Formats: sequence, C-alpha cells, structure tokens
Amino acid sequence: MPLPEPPPAGGRMLPVGTYDGQVVLITGGGTGLGRGMAVEFARLGAAVAVASRDPAHRAEGVAAVEEAGGRGLGVSVDVRDPAGVAAAFDEVEAAVGGVSVLVNNAAGNFQVPAEAMSPNAWRAVAGIVLDGTFFCSAEFARRRVRDGQPGAILNIGATYAWTGGPGAAHSAAAKAGVVNLTQTLSVEWAAYGIRVNSLAPGVFPHDDVDARWGEGHEERMRERAASIPAGRVGRVRELGWAATYLCSPYAAYVSGHHFVIDGANWHRRHGFSMPPYVPIPDLMRGSG
Ligand code: NAP
Repeated sequence: MPLPEPPPAGGRMLPVGTYDGQVVLITGGGTGLGRGMAVEFARLGAAVAVASRDPAHRAEGVAAVEEAGGRGLGVSVDVRDPAGVAAAFDEVEAAVGGVSVLVNNAAGNFQVPAEAMSPNAWRAVAGIVLDGTFFCSAEFARRRVRDGQPGAILNIGATYAWTGGPGAAHSAAAKAGVVNLTQTLSVEWAAYGIRVNSLAPGVFPHDDVDARWGEGHEERMRERAASIPAGRVGRVRELGWAATYLCSPYAAYVSGHHFVIDGANWHRRHGFSMPPYVPIPDLMRGSG
C-alpha cells in the first residue's frame, strides 16, 4: 500500500491570515514548484512577488496568485546579477512594501555527463543556484537589518546535495553549496531575527515539466513512482504547505534546518538507475 494521498488542494494547514501584511518574494515563482508555493502563500494572505526573467512565466505566476485570492506582482530579475537583484527588491518595496520572506527557488538543470560538461553549462547552473541564492539572500538581509525587522529565508534544495547527483554534477554541487550556506547564514543572521532553512523536494511532477518532456511523461512518472518507497510522487501542494510552515511564526524556533520531503526516497540509492521498489518483507521472503 503506498503512503496516503494528502488532503485535497485548496485546504489550509495554517490559520487564515497567517501571512496578512507579509510580502513574499519567490524567485522562479512563475512556473512549477515556485508557482505552487506562491499559491499557498497567497491563500494565507501574503502579497507575492514573482521574480524571474521571462515575462510570460511571471504573468502565469501572478495569475495563479490572483486566482487564489492574493495580491501578485511580477518583477523582472536575473538572480545572477546582484545589481538587478537590488533593483528588483526596490521595485517590490515601492509597490507593496519590504520583503519579509524570501524563497530562493530559481534553478536551472539538465543531465550531462561531467566529462562532457562545458564551462558555460557549469557556470550557468552554479550561477543561478549558488550565486543567485547568495545574492538574493544578502540583499534581503541587508534590508531587514536596515529596517530592524525579522524575516525568513527558504532555500529550495534537492537531496542530491547530500548524495551526489550523477549526471548533474553542476546542480548537485551548487545545491550542496546552498545547504552549507543555509547553515552559515542561519547562525550569522539569527542575531537579526532572520531564520534560514532549506526545503529539499523529491520527485514532484508539475505541468511545466509535463509540457517540457512531452509524450511518454506519464508513463515515466509511473515508473518513478514505483521506485519511491512512498509508492507515489509528491503533490505540489504538499511542498507549498511545507514552505508556508517553515517561513511562518509557527516555525519561529526552526532555523538552519533542512526539510526533506520525498516519500523516504533519499534513504535509498539514487533513483535513476534503480529497479522498481520492493518492500523489504517481500525482499526477505524472496531471499528466504
Ligand atoms: P522550473 O519549472 O524549471 O523552474 C525554475 C524557475 O527558475 C523558472 O521559473 C525560471 O523562470 C527561474 N529561473 C531560472 N533561471 C533564473 C535566473 N537566472 N534568474 C531568475 N529566475 C530564474 O523548476 P521546478 O521543477 O519548478 O523546480 C523548482 C525548484 O525545486 C528548483 O530549485 C529545483 O532545483 C527544485 N527541485 C525540483 C524538483 C522537482 O521534482 N520538480 C526536485 C528537486 C528539486 P524564468 O525562466 O522566467 O527566469
């Protein structure tokens, strides 16, 4: 029997209005998991700034936030450019007030053997994931410190930060850097009332990946589900609920923490090349 499905979409895990008066900036908030998290923050009362490069993506994020009854704002940014990051924070501040929650979700990734990886490919992914997370976090913290206000940062990671990611050396190394940064900044910035945590999703299919991978995607996802101890993939709303908890006052004592949400998958060997999951008792019976 797989792990149970979560409650249906649209439910709230936290009290109505938990994020009233808060401004949440989500990098890459227009697509996939970023958009899913944006919706959950919006449902709880936050104004949500969707920050990314592509105006079409931003528009999709803002539309999703508004559909959930929240206030959305698209802001153009390339997280690799510190001056651009500062300008994006200025824009959000002028429109809806100071950012009180930052979600570093933007990422780039593609599979390539390490020996075939070009320097540009390495720099592009490491630049978005590691440099971008640091530039956005530092800009956020400077402003919180300036205003004497607390805040919360959530870095979206991946479990191959700990295990290594064969075929994605750039992303795995950058995510490992983000894990380390989370720990360092949680200590440095506790003195300013700023919490820093990370959230590592397992396999979370979403519409944007479906569109990108095209035909056969559903079949591939069924195979992936069979390789996960939970017996299913993650639902985007589950990630949104975890994100809204970690950045909320209910997690006021949680900082420097890495929250893995992956149906126990990372405690197995890496998923890509593994055979379908067989429950341990069946395995033991088989070897009887
Ligand atoms: P996605 O759909 O590819 O989203 C990536 C987002 O990052 C896009 O909205 C993109 O927007 C933005 N972005 C990329 N480069 C940027 C840059 N230089 N500056 C600003 N924004 C940039 O990915 P996803 O699947 O939703 O993943 C979201 C996060 O979860 C990532 O951190 C990923 O590593 C992590 N994760 C996902 C899974 C999963 O199963 N989906 C599993 C493990 C970890 P623009 O193109 O508009 O810039």
